[in-house]
Order: sequence, then structure tokens, then C-alpha cells
Amino acid sequence: MIMDQSEHKTGHFGPFGGQYVPETLMPALEELEQAFNYCWADTHFRNEFDKYLRDYVGRPSPLYYAERLTRHCGGARIYLKREDLNHTGAHKINNTLGQALLAKYMNKPRVIAETGAGMHGVATATVAARLGLECDVYMGREDIHRQAPNVRRMEYLGANVLPVDTGSGTLKDALNEALRDWVGSVQRTSYVLGTVAGPHPYPLMVRAFQRVIGDETYEQIARHENDLPAAIIACVGGGSNASGIFQAFQQESQVKLIGVEAGGSGLETGKHAASIGGGRLGVLHGSKSYVLQDDYGQIKPTHSASAGLDYPGVGPEHAYLHEMQKAEYTVVNDQEAVDNFDLLCRLEGIIPALESAHAVAEAVRRAPRMRPDEYLIVNLSGRGDKDMSAVDEFRNAQKKEDANSE
Ligand SMILES: *Cc1c(COP(=O)(O)O)cnc(C)c1O
Repeated sequence: MIMDQSEHKTGHFGPFGGQYVPETLMPALEELEQAFNYCWADTHFRNEFDKYLRDYVGRPSPLYYAERLTRHCGGARIYLKREDLNHTGAHKINNTLGQALLAKYMNKPRVIAETGAGMHGVATATVAARLGLECDVYMGREDIHRQAPNVRRMEYLGANVLPVDTGSGTLKDALNEALRDWVGSVQRTSYVLGTVAGPHPYPLMVRAFQRVIGDETYEQIARHENDLPAAIIACVGGGSNASGIFQAFQQESQVKLIGVEAGGSGLETGKHAASIGGGRLGVLHGSKSYVLQDDYGQIKPTHSASAGLDYPGVGPEHAYLHEMQKAEYTVVNDQEAVDNFDLLCRLEGIIPALESAHAVAEAVRRAPRMRPDEYLIVNLSGRGDKDMSAVDEFRNAQKKEDANSE
């Protein structure tokens, strides 16, 4: 594990991370940190977490050799870690389960969450239903319109979806609103944050709940291969699925860790969501990291066909791994993600989340330049049924553009 001495005390990763929050939020963060440290070391808690991961989430998720994709690329062999097969269809539930169990242990009857595309909201509402917790989910007004099916899912699961009208009515505004709620309600409420961002202890805690992905992968490799993989590839929105699979391999210097950010229409157009590739050092949502901002420090709007990567910041550990060159970060544009979405559908019979298609694209770029005795592992963070209309929309917009330019 890459960790400076101060990591566990203050949540700093080099110059990144920390707790840039109003004084009124500090007691809540301290209580949460203490509860997490206690529970994570407690066998009873860990057994309960493992039991739910197995029987409710459906873990371990398979490590799958993508034979036809490999043949199509030529070169290195490609494996997929199938987080798409989890209950609710993505890796997010590993984290919401951990945080909801923690809320139970803290005797908080209510959880709140922020959501953009609605996936984190659905994963939170799901475990809240199972554990008998009240659940309020903050969601931008704009996103509520764009993501109606997920709003319905949350409502069926018994959660209240609270519309947020401030700012641009999207994810970053919902996150601000949820933090504001928490300041006033901390006695009976726990805040379930969706990725490895936000103030300490969230980046460390979410990473801990997601590290099961990499731990399983490390074990599963032995059934297929004699050697470690040449590279692990994961998409990066806030960075939780990447952190989860990177963890187990951070000690292994021969394994390249590759994070893939959303290039949207292309870095050069300014319409993207690549905080490492195109952002600057700043503070967002209580933590210091790379942030997409203008010359005045205002948060810039993000663009990506995949809603889950559409976040103007990135977890502080990824900023640190980038800075220390312990991991490599690349960018895949909408077009390439959509092309690889198709490719995986047709060759493997797997409809990937558009987020995950970014990671598939990076593997497809690299494999042909590598030897057949090497192999790559792609973290397939989620399934893509939710993205079919986004893919249609992207194609329709493209057709219009082509027609106009003729
Ligand atoms: C939310 C989401 C992501 C992005 O979140 P990270 O915290 O970067 O993992 C990636 N893939 C899927 C399927 C998601 O739902």
C-alpha cells in the first residue's frame, strides 16, 4: 500500500485530500471516522459485511477471459472482472452496503445520499430497504428529468428523492445539499457518499469497502495464470472502482495501474470530464485534488456521454498516484467509448456500462501492441442496460452533424 505516515490520521495523500469543511461538520466526520475504524477492525462487523456481499450482492464476481475480444485485438489476452453481475448492476453496492451497515452500528435510523445519474441513489436505496433505514436522496432537478427510470426505482425501494434547484441542478449541487442536510441532522443521520472523494474519512473508507474487487481478482488469477497481469485498467469518475481493484496490486511494481477518464467530445474542445487530464489543483466537496475549474476557480460544467464519469473532481488518492507516477491516467472520448460498447456487445454478449466501455477501449488500444503471453485485466464496473438510450442519443446527434456537414 502506498501511504504516508499521516494518511490514517488526516486522510492526506501527499498534498491531496484532507478535510476542507465548515467547523459544524467536523463532529460528524470525527464520529464517522471513529465508527469506521472500530467496525473495520471488528470481526463481527466484517463477517456481516462479507455475508451480505456473498448472499445479497452475489460475490465473488467472476474473472472472465474474453476470448473473442482477445482474438479480435491480437496480442495480449484480455480478462474482465465482472462487477456488472452484482445486485443492482455495478460495483457501487459494495460501498453503499458498507456505509449502511456502519449507519446501523452507529444507531442512525436515517441515511442520505447524493446522486447524479441515479446509480448511487439506487444502490443506497436498495441497502436502506434491506436494513430498514429511512433514505432521502438529493438529486438535481435537471438530473431528475434526465434519469426518470432511476427515480422510479428509488421510489419503489421506499426512498424519497429530493429535488435540488441550486446551481446547475446536477450532481455537484446535490452533493452540496446533502452535506448541508447532514450538518443539521447528524444525530440521527449518516451520509452515504458515492465515491472515493469528499472529506476524510470518505476516500479511505470507500476504498476499504471496494477493495474486495482487487482482493478477489488477485485470488482468481491463480486459477487462470502463473503470472501477474501486465496491467489493470479501470475507468475513473470519482475513482472508487479503480481504487477498489488497484489496491491489491499497488505493491506489485510489474503491474501497471491505468485509470481512464472521460474525454467527452475531446480534451481540446473543453467539453470533457477528465479532472486529471484537464483540471487543476483545487478544493471541491471538502477535499483537495484536481478539479475542473475556470480561471476564477468556478467549477466548470462537465461533458460525457456516460453519466457516471460526469464529475468535475477526482478522488485525492488518484491525484497522488498520478503525481507520484504510481499509476497512469489516460483519456477516452465518447466516440471511442460508444464504439467499444458495441464491440463488447457483439463479441462477448455483454452489454457494458458506458463508463466501463472507456476501460474496455483502453485495453483494445493496448492489447495489439503487447505479447500474447501477457495479459490485461479490465474492471467491468457495471452493466449497460441503463445506457442504451444514451448510446442512441449519441448516434442520433452524430447523424445530424454528418448531415449538416454534407
Ligand atoms: C458510478 C459509476 C462509475 C464511476 O464511479 P467511480 O467512483 O469512478 O468508480 C463507473 N462505472 C459505473 C458502472 C458506475 O455506475
